[in-house]
Amino acid sequence: MQKVITLKDMCLVTKTAPMAAEVHGERAKCLQRLIRLDMPVPTTVAMSFNAVRAIAAGHAADAPQILRHFGNNPLLSVRPSSMDPDWGGPVAMLNIGMNDAKHADLCDLLGEETATRLYMRYIQTFAVEVARLDAEEFYLPDHPSRDALRAMLSVYEAEMDAEFPQDVGAQLAEVLRSMARTWEGTTARLLRQAKGAPPDAGLGLVVQEMALAVGAGVSGSGVIQFASSTTGTPEINGRFVPQALHAEGLRDRLDALYLTRDPRGPSMEEQAPDAFAKLIEFGALGRIKLREEMEIKFILFDGQLTILDAVRIQRSNRAAVRIAVDLASSGVIAKEDAILRVQPSALSELLHRQVDRAAKRDILVRGIAASPGAASGRLVFTACEAQASAARSEACVLVRRETTPEDIRGMHAAVAVVTLRGGITSHAAVIGRGIGLPCIVGASDLDVDERKRTITGPDGRRLKSGDMVTVDGSTGQVLVGEPAMVEAALDEAFQTLLSWADDVRDIGIRANADTPADAQTARNFAAEGIGLVRTEHMFFQGERVDLMREMIFAETPIALAAVLERLLPLQRADFYEIFQIMQDQPVCIRLFDAPLHEFLPAGKQGMRDLAEVLNVPLAQMTARVDDLSEYNPMLGMRGVRLGITVPEIYDMQARAIFEATVAASAKGNQLVPEIMVPLVSARREVELVQSRLDAVAAAVRVESGVDFEYRLGVMVETPRAALRAEDIAEHAAFLSFGTNDLTQMTYGLSRDDAGKFMSDYVKLHVYAEDPFHTLDLDGVGELLQLGAERGRKGRPDVTLSICGEHGGDTATIAFCRAQGFDYVSCSPFRVPVARLSAAQLAL
Ligand code: PEP
Ligand code: MG
Repeated sequence: MQKVITLKDMCLVTKTAPMAAEVHGERAKCLQRLIRLDMPVPTTVAMSFNAVRAIAAGHAADAPQILRHFGNNPLLSVRPSSMDPDWGGPVAMLNIGMNDAKHADLCDLLGEETATRLYMRYIQTFAVEVARLDAEEFYLPDHPSRDALRAMLSVYEAEMDAEFPQDVGAQLAEVLRSMARTWEGTTARLLRQAKGAPPDAGLGLVVQEMALAVGAGVSGSGVIQFASSTTGTPEINGRFVPQALHAEGLRDRLDALYLTRDPRGPSMEEQAPDAFAKLIEFGALGRIKLREEMEIKFILFDGQLTILDAVRIQRSNRAAVRIAVDLASSGVIAKEDAILRVQPSALSELLHRQVDRAAKRDILVRGIAASPGAASGRLVFTACEAQASAARSEACVLVRRETTPEDIRGMHAAVAVVTLRGGITSHAAVIGRGIGLPCIVGASDLDVDERKRTITGPDGRRLKSGDMVTVDGSTGQVLVGEPAMVEAALDEAFQTLLSWADDVRDIGIRANADTPADAQTARNFAAEGIGLVRTEHMFFQGERVDLMREMIFAETPIALAAVLERLLPLQRADFYEIFQIMQDQPVCIRLFDAPLHEFLPAGKQGMRDLAEVLNVPLAQMTARVDDLSEYNPMLGMRGVRLGITVPEIYDMQARAIFEATVAASAKGNQLVPEIMVPLVSARREVELVQSRLDAVAAAVRVESGVDFEYRLGVMVETPRAALRAEDIAEHAAFLSFGTNDLTQMTYGLSRDDAGKFMSDYVKLHVYAEDPFHTLDLDGVGELLQLGAERGRKGRPDVTLSICGEHGGDTATIAFCRAQGFDYVSCSPFRVPVARLSAAQLAL
């Protein structure tokens, strides 16, 4: 920690002063650019990150050194200046230097009421924001008087045991200290980290001479921007407040004028045409020279224009994309810059689904709509359960009374969050918006019984853990069940940006898609094929799960054959539909891989229900479940082990794939399906499966009279498969790393249970991150590297990819690029994010 603040840390901003955004923040650097463009900017001093850190740590701000740059008894403002304006910061402090003497001067200049209002407002802000006194004690009357002023000063004195500071240096030092400390606070930290700020992000402060916005002629304070913050489309937008005592809330002030001529009222353009024309000129100049859409804050004093500040305009994610694309399309920035200017994570907010307007809404409860987008998932009540759910790739909705920082990992794991307490700025809301997670807060009509793990709506309906709910974060409604959704509207700028990204990226992006609906989403997001169809997921829904259970419970070859015969057309139809949707794009279908326990009934009631469906006695059912139960199902009869032990299942799946291939090829698509074998640990497993698949392919060729090829590949998800990849690749045209299981087995960490202790492990720095969430590049990564090298030895042209949940992550994509992988495969909604990340990595 720096012990002293040097003169270099308090730099007068001039055309030539040594300044950098990494040292003084973006606002300070931008003010220097405005000065270089000869805009009329008042005297400004920039405090560096170092200075602010030292002040926050208790070092006194060297106010006299700052004040020597200003005239006698100045009025000053202090504004935050971080590396990225989106990271937020403490609110600006204005009119520093107001005191009894200044008040007397201003009474002569502005009249007593105006001067008193200004002074009282300053005392109020100083008391609340700097001295942290109770806001209710500092009430500003409609008609401020000397008595009210004296009363306010006495309240301050009584609360602080000291007079209101009269010395500008003392006031300034206090303001700097308070702003520096605010930046270090937990809420500010969480807020900016959710927006991508590094943990050690610094804050600079900009101290500036105030320009008077009250006085003769056309005087006032205004703000102008040249593109919409919501959509990014070009438009002049802002407000001008004549005789403005303070610059806050300009846009919402009733006494504000329109900037441009407007039938609804008077405009600045009419009242001060020269200054307005100058602003338009500055706007155009700023756009070209600063290569950004800027919001300009200005003051008019008797028609004279002063530019206080210009910052990147606040923008929604949608606007960020549009602005970047417009700047590149008009040649102000390069396309590459446009690609680099949009945070990949920002795209995901644009991608969120919404509940279909036409869908019936079964509303359980309403709360505050805190973060937009809608998502459906099963109810969970703790962060641990949410993490366990995510590890099982099961969508979940986390319900909490209120969230604490400990819940962040759970929020990352959930598809949506509901809290009973809190408002729009509560922890859950702030974090939810930061990470683009649908979120409802303040759903206080909901009753939660954490012990029984139930929620009860105001109408008495009770839902339990595991029940399906939908969170509509755009309207604040928690819905029962899973209504139809519509995909996010992706506008032209979004498509343009991603097409530029596709031009520069050098690694393929496919999607994991289990159903035709998923495949359609993947296609809409321009995935270059499907990298993983989890065929068992096709059977998680509705009545299909019973059919699957029938297959598992079949005790004789005849019974098994009968169920497989019923499964075949369902599988064939799904595959056919997926092929049709993906057209000429590759589709990689993974043969059945489910730990059997996922299909076994739970509890007595579940047994009874299934016994009824399968029409067998309960005792027989219980005996069979006992028979099939495993101590460690994740390492038990899964994947290829089931395929080899009960080969008829893979035979049926292969037939479904090949018959769908033949049917789709008849429509003109030249299809070469990819078939992937899960959970392989030995070469012989692949040999055995291959010979059966070849036999089925031969039979389908003969029966249909249509020739076709297929590619056989292996999912590398056991450590042994990675180690023996050379051997295995001789039988595999492609190797796809399943990093979920590979992480589970490399760590010896249960995907289903690790959530219970993961937060403790991360808190104690045992693991830097949850390895199911962030790929462990050191350990699991080494196995990927080894597997890739050895696989290439066995087959130089082997196709390499990753299809675990890590696939869409920027760090994982960077790793896969470095290893020369052909593609990554991730969930459909992450495809655009991955496309942009991959492009940024290639630049
Ligand atoms: C994996 O293990 O990484 C994988 C993609 O398969 P699943 O999650 O279905 O086990
Ligand atoms: Mg797996």
